[in-house]
Amino acid sequence: MVSSETRFAEFADIVGAENVLTTEDDRRRYAHDKLPYANFRARAGALVGTLPGVVLRPGSADEVQRIVRHAAKAGLPVIPYGSGSGVLGGTIPLEGEVMIDMQRMDRITGVDYENALVTVQAGMNGELFEAELNAKGYTVGHLPQSLTISTTGGWAACRGGGQESSRYGKIEDIVVGLKAVLPDGRLLEVRPLPKRATGPSIRDLIVGNEGTLAIITELTLRLWKQPEAEEVMVFALPERAAALGLARRIMQAGLHPRIVRLYDERETASRTEGIAAFAERPVMANIVVCGEPGLVAAEAALVRSFAAEAGAVETETRPFDEWRATRYKSISKLWQDKGYYNDTIEVTVNWSRAAALYEAIEKQVPGIFPEAHFSAHWSHVYPEGVCQYMTIRLPQMPQDEALPLHARLWELLEGETLAHGGSIAHHHGSGLFRGPWMDDELGVGMDLLRAVKQAIDPQNLFNPGKLGLPPRAGSIDPYRDRVDHA
Ligand SMILES: Cc1cc2nc3c(=O)[nH]c(=O)nc-3n(C[C@H](O)[C@H](O)[C@H](O)COP(=O)(O)OP(=O)(O)OC[C@H]3O[C@@H](n4cnc5c(N)ncnc54)[C@H](O)[C@@H]3O)c2cc1C
Repeated sequence: MVSSETRFAEFADIVGAENVLTTEDDRRRYAHDKLPYANFRARAGALVGTLPGVVLRPGSADEVQRIVRHAAKAGLPVIPYGSGSGVLGGTIPLEGEVMIDMQRMDRITGVDYENALVTVQAGMNGELFEAELNAKGYTVGHLPQSLTISTTGGWAACRGGGQESSRYGKIEDIVVGLKAVLPDGRLLEVRPLPKRATGPSIRDLIVGNEGTLAIITELTLRLWKQPEAEEVMVFALPERAAALGLARRIMQAGLHPRIVRLYDERETASRTEGIAAFAERPVMANIVVCGEPGLVAAEAALVRSFAAEAGAVETETRPFDEWRATRYKSISKLWQDKGYYNDTIEVTVNWSRAAALYEAIEKQVPGIFPEAHFSAHWSHVYPEGVCQYMTIRLPQMPQDEALPLHARLWELLEGETLAHGGSIAHHHGSGLFRGPWMDDELGVGMDLLRAVKQAIDPQNLFNPGKLGLPPRAGSIDPYRDRVDHA
C-alpha cells in the first residue's frame, strides 16, 4: 500500500504544490467513477477500492513525462484520470495509486481546415470542445450521452462511441493521430496521416488502452462541417425483427444516417404515450439523415421506402424531439438516486444473431428475479451488426440480497453475448468490472495483450488490475463481494 506523503513530495517540483492534492476529502473525490456497482456499495458507505495516495494535476505533456519517470524510479503505480465518468471502474484505485488528473490540459491546440483535422489536449471537457468547434461551424461528431462530464482523452482511452456513430464512427474511426506517454516516460507520436501500411497499427494499441499501456496527452481528430440540412423520421414497426431488418438494410445500402435508434416494446411504450400508431406497431425506430440538401432528400426517400417495405408507418417526431432535448441526461442516475439497482450493459453482435440474443436474455431474466426489469435499445448500427444496449434494474431491496442478483444478471448478459458470438463491450470499455470476462472475450489475444503489457510496463505501474490484466501483489480484491465468475 502506497501511503507515506513524503513519497509524493518530489511531485510538487514537477506540477507545483498547488497541483498536488493530498487531503482526505480531495482523495475521496477521486476514489470512484460512475461504476453502478460502486455506487450501490457506497450507499452503505463502502469503497470498492482504496483512496488514491495523491492526486496530481499536470499542465503539459512534459509534466506527465516527468511524473511518469519519477513514479517509475520510485516504483509508484499511477492511474490517468479524465473526469471519472467511466462506468466500469477504470479509475478506481486498488492500492493507493498516484492519480494523474488530466483536466488542466484543456485546450484545442490547432485546427487544420485543409486536412479537416483538429488537435486537442487530452483533458479537454467534451461539451466545451464541441461548443468551440460548433462556434466555427464544425463538429467531430463524437457525442456520447456523457458529453458534458467526459474528456477527449477518456473517449479515446475507453474506445467510446457517440450517439451519431452511424455517420461519424466510433472514436477509433475519428482518432487520426495522437501523442502518449509510455511507462518509461518516452513520448510516443502517431502522426495524423490518412492511411499507412507499416505493420500493425500503433494507434490502435493506444486507443482503448484505458491507461494500462500509455497516458494519452493529445489527440488529432477528424473534423467535419456541421450538416446543412437534416430530416427526422419516426416510424412505428410491427415487431423487433422488422426494426432490426430496417436498420440492417439502411447500413448495408451504404447510407450514413446521423441517428438510428430502435427501441424494444418496453422502451417504446415509455416514450410514445398517447401516439396511436404504436398500439398496433409497438416497436419504434428513429432515423435522422443529414448533410448536403440533395443527399438528404435522396437518403430520406430511400429510408422511407425501406421502412414501408418493413411494414412501418411514419408518425409524429415528438418522441425523437423529447429524446434530443434530454440526450445528455442519465436515466440510470434517476433510478439509482431512488435506491433502485439500475445498470446498463452494451454489447455487440452480428445481425444474424441479434434477435436470438435478445430473446435468450429476455427469457432468462425472470428466473434470476421475477421483478427484475429488462429492456434494450439499438443505437449504434453497422453493416455487419449492432450494439444491443440493455438496461437491467432490481427494485429497492437490502443490498446483501441485491448484489448477488446483480452479479448473476451481468453473468447472464455477458455470458449469452459470448454464446451468441458477440463482444462483451461496445463503448463503455472494460475497466475493472469486465475483467473476469476478458479471457473469454479475447482468447489467445489476451495472451498477446499480457505480453505487450509485460514488455512495456514490467513493473506493472500503469493502471494495474484493469482490462483483465493482473493486479499487483498486495492490492485489494475488488470482487470480494461478488459471486464467483464461473
Ligand atoms: C451517464 C453516462 C452516460 C454515458 N454515455 C456514454 C456514451 O454514450 N458513450 C460512451 O462511449 N461512453 C459513455 N459513458 C461512459 C464514459 O463517459 C466514457 O467511457 C468516457 O469516455 C470516459 O471519459 P472520462 O474522461 O470521464 O474518463 P475516466 O472515467 O476518467 O477514465 C476512464 C478510463 O480511461 C483512462 N483514461 C482517462 N484519461 C486517459 C488518458 N488521457 N490517457 C490514458 N488513459 C486515460 C482511465 O484511467 C480509465 O481507465 C457514459 C457514462 C455515464 C456516467
